[in-house]
This record gives sequence, C-alpha cells and structure tokens, in this order.
Amino acid sequence: MLRIDVITIFPGLFEPFLSESMVGIALRDGYAEVRVHDLRDFTEDRHQVVDDAPYGGGPGMVMKPEPLVRAIEAVAGPKGPGRRGRVVLMSPQGEPLEQSRLAELAGLSEDRAGGDAPGLTVVCGRYEGIDQRAIDLAVDEELSLGDYVLSGGEVPAMALIEGVVRLIPGVLGNPESAVSESFEAGLLEGPQYTRPASFRGLEVPEVLRSGDHGAVERWRREQALARTRERRPDLLHDEDTSGGPRANESRKRKEP
Ligand code: SAH
Repeated sequence: MLRIDVITIFPGLFEPFLSESMVGIALRDGYAEVRVHDLRDFTEDRHQVVDDAPYGGGPGMVMKPEPLVRAIEAVAGPKGPGRRGRVVLMSPQGEPLEQSRLAELAGLSEDRAGGDAPGLTVVCGRYEGIDQRAIDLAVDEELSLGDYVLSGGEVPAMALIEGVVRLIPGVLGNPESAVSESFEAGLLEGPQYTRPASFRGLEVPEVLRSGDHGAVERWRREQALARTRERRPDLLHDEDTSGGPRANESRKRKEP
C-alpha cells in the first residue's frame, strides 16, 4: 500500500483521474491511497492568496512560500530526519522522469510499516513557478516530464502517479506485462498485433501465429532491438549498437 499526497490549487482536476481506469481500480482495491490537498486551505488570509508578484519584476506571478511550506510540512513533516516519505516537486527544471525512477518510487510502499503516513508527496506548481525558498526549505527532489513547459504541475503529477501506481506489486494483473515493456529491459517494445490476422491487406507476421514460443520470443527480441536502434539509439550501449540481442543486458549486469 502506497499513500500518495498531492498538493495543488486545482484539486478538482484529480477527481476523474483517480476514479477511473487502472488508477481507479488500484485505489479501490487498496494498493494505493491518494489524498489531494487544496493549497488554499493552508493560507491564513481571508482571500486565500497563494501567489504574488515577482521580486525584480517580470511577467506573471510566483507561488508564495508560506502556504506551500505550511502545506508540505503538514502533510510530510519538516525536511530532514523528521520527514515522512519523499516530497517531489513537478518542475521543468527537475530530473527527467524515467521508468527506473518510477520503480523506485513505487518501492516506497514497502517502506511503510503499516502506519498512516505518506510515502510520496507530489507538489504541483502553477503560475511562473515557485518561490525558491519553498523549494529549498521543503522539497526533496524535482522531477520533470520533459523539455517543454506546461501551465501547471497537475498533469505531470498525474503522469507520475499513473506510472508509479501500475508498478506497485499486484496492480497489473499479469506481472509479465511490466517486465517486457519499453524501457524495462533498456529497449523499446516491438510491434504488437491482435485479431484479425489480416486487416486491409496487412498480415500479422507468420511467426506470431506459429505457436512456437521460442521463435516468438526470439522474434520479439529482434524487433525490440531493431526498433530501439532505429528510434532511440541513445538507449543502446555505445560499444554495441550493432550488437547481439543481449548487449543491453550485459551492460545492466555490470552496473552495481
Ligand atoms: N517559469 C518556470 C515554468 C513554470 S510552469 C520555468 O521557466 O522553469 C508552471 C508549473 O508547471 C511549474 O511550477 C511546474 O510545477 C509545472 N510544469 C510545467 N512544465 C513541467 C514539466 N515539463 N515537468 C514537470 N512540471 C512542469
């Protein structure tokens, strides 16, 4: 069970996301719990102001530090030894989010000794960004969805939550499906087919219909490798872009 807390000024955005599909089922079945906190509840002024003009001038507004730090500390405790779980800020300046990081965060579920504490707290920025002091004082790490700028951290937070929740053991009906996926083995997954065997003159490759599991496995690995070489050569080991199908695995084994 992984408890995820979200801090946002748009809690309503999360309602449909958390009630439908894989995430909805995982929450219903108790693999995870998501609590969404409205940042405005942590303001102390009558108008519940969360933003202010930037020092030094410039366009737009900046998220004020007080409500943010108050919210984060109320949920996850103070930064440092007293912290409960991990506090992540979604930010285009963060470390690019990768599959390995999702797996690590999904593992925070095991750290919980049955207590009622957050494993992962996700902070969603808005406006032109966040007062740096709130980041310094209360955030453990920053994660980016990619090299582009969105208007808020809510969509990135949903991407993070969906990516993490599906890796909690038991959430995917078939654990194999996570193992063969793109990035898990350091490769993209190859092409996939379902019925009909022939569609608009395009045939499903014969080998997939052969019933020869060994041949299917070999074909899938070749396809994965070819596709990775073509589309994402950066994922392959430098020394072995020509390489055998095990090139990437041997690299993985060498890493501690
Ligand atoms: N002015 C900031 C961008 C602010 S965008 C800058 O130049 O760095 C407003 C908020 O949207 C950010 O605080 C962040 O929470 C979210 N956001 C935007 N793009 C994102 C991305 N690629 N990954 C993660 N979060 C992002």
